[in-house]
Amino acid sequence: MQFFVKHLYLLAPILAILALFGVYRLIKANDRPIPHYEPKQVEDTWSAEEYMRHLNLKPFNQREVHRLLLKRTRQKEGVYLESLLPVMDTAGLEIIRCYHKVMGDDYVPVITSGNDYPYHKKNSKHYKNAAMDFRIVDMPMDKRRQVVEMAQDKLGPRFKVLWEKGEMEHLHVEMTE
Ligand SMILES: [Zn+2]
Repeated sequence: MQFFVKHLYLLAPILAILALFGVYRLIKANDRPIPHYEPKQVEDTWSAEEYMRHLNLKPFNQREVHRLLLKRTRQKEGVYLESLLPVMDTAGLEIIRCYHKVMGDDYVPVITSGNDYPYHKKNSKHYKNAAMDFRIVDMPMDKRRQVVEMAQDKLGPRFKVLWEKGEMEHLHVEMTE
């Protein structure tokens, strides 16, 4: 006991050293290097083989063909094409190609009717999801004729392309069978 009392003056420097050490530890803790983020290298060029593999993983199915038809056209408000027969999607794309050939690739054809209009003929193919109407009145007369003739020529006997004239002039396409 005598010893401790005698050397009590040493307590202050020891505490001071401990305090300093504590501060040093704190500083050191905040000093840790920030983890460096390295983004994974992404290969942005595909070999032909990789591209083919990608195509096989995502087959170009009928749903995609329908989406393409909607993407390459505008549709008049209220047009219903969701139940359109798959073969009509393909026919529609063929007609779009005709519009592009006649009017240029920037032309966006407008579908004005599918299975949606209550005033088609009673047995109209429209009500069997086997017919579509395209806008044609915004084109010069000779271009209308070209599109109609080219469309019938490309689609062949399985389809009938009609140039419906009069007040509600449009291009009508339907399956024949
Ligand atoms: Zn029609």
